[in-house]
Amino acid sequence: MERRITRQIKIGSVAIGGNNPIALQSMTNARDYDGILEQMLALQNAGCDIVRLAVPDMDTVRILGRLKENVAMPIVADIHFDYRLALESAHAGVDKIRINPGNIGDLDRIKAVANICAQKGLPIRIGVNGGSLESDILQKYGEVSADALMASAVKNIQLLEKFDFDNIVVSIKSSSVPMMMAANQIFSEKYDYPLHLGVTEAGTLKSGTIKGAVGIGGLLAGGIGDTIRVSLTAPVVEEIHSGREILKASGRYHGGGVEIISCPTCARASVDIIAIANELEMQIEHNLPHTTRGKLLKVAVMGCAVNGPGEAREADLGVACGNGEGLLFSKGRPTHKVLESEIVSALMQEISLLQ
Ligand code: SF4
Repeated sequence: MERRITRQIKIGSVAIGGNNPIALQSMTNARDYDGILEQMLALQNAGCDIVRLAVPDMDTVRILGRLKENVAMPIVADIHFDYRLALESAHAGVDKIRINPGNIGDLDRIKAVANICAQKGLPIRIGVNGGSLESDILQKYGEVSADALMASAVKNIQLLEKFDFDNIVVSIKSSSVPMMMAANQIFSEKYDYPLHLGVTEAGTLKSGTIKGAVGIGGLLAGGIGDTIRVSLTAPVVEEIHSGREILKASGRYHGGGVEIISCPTCARASVDIIAIANELEMQIEHNLPHTTRGKLLKVAVMGCAVNGPGEAREADLGVACGNGEGLLFSKGRPTHKVLESEIVSALMQEISLLQ
């Protein structure tokens, strides 16, 4: 489906919205400078485009400048309640502020945050979350719902627009996948502000990735969304690995790299396809540089001659396995046979030749 075109917003060096690639985000969870820096650099190496950190106090504000000096990715300060933290974070050089105007108090405070962000060219992300809906909205709608989430987004947008501030990104998150999808669909029909997609409190690596794939991936495939975060109860770099796979599966990935197509195996397979596919994925993840440019190679790992040659031919590279060996394909043509134990290294070699 065609992508819905939103207005373009710049977060430091990364542009989102419009026709820009969908940006991958994550968030650190360490508490001290060394730990935060280590996580940010690991995320950067894994291919993260934008990183966010919680700024709960002035001690954290004081390390923002040093983080900016040592991290190439744009940094987003995540702030709740205390508008002074937003002002000081903006002065410290962050690239975006995430704050909900509705929870920082009177209009003078909202105006102060809008003014400093306008002066420094910083976008503000309004982050509506099903777990922290305003009490007046909850009272009006009776429960958390897609319409209630939408009403909160509108309320917060209007609080910024009141001060002529429209450098806005919006996220509407819920731990309910259908609700989050419905709210984002309603929003995208009415506004052209860029959308940051996420399923909140999604869960562990496996279940959280599945929720993200359905919620975020479903919206992306339908043309909605400009930047994503896959929230996982897992090491932070896993959010980037999962996010990238969701982008590939939804047809919105514009970077280089490899997409593996592998068969589920059945009684016809006479090699260990599960081991081969996992080893290949691991080697790709650890040995190939993550690049936001270049071609996405499709590599098919197939267990037998039933569907193997067909899929292997359709992909950029492939292997159709037989009795203890595999027939390699490159650009649709069979090239040579290798032993089962050499399949992964042979594919890695072919991948490096094509990249
Ligand atoms: Fe089974 Fe062959 Fe299909 Fe793999 S490619 S699932 S081994 S029939």
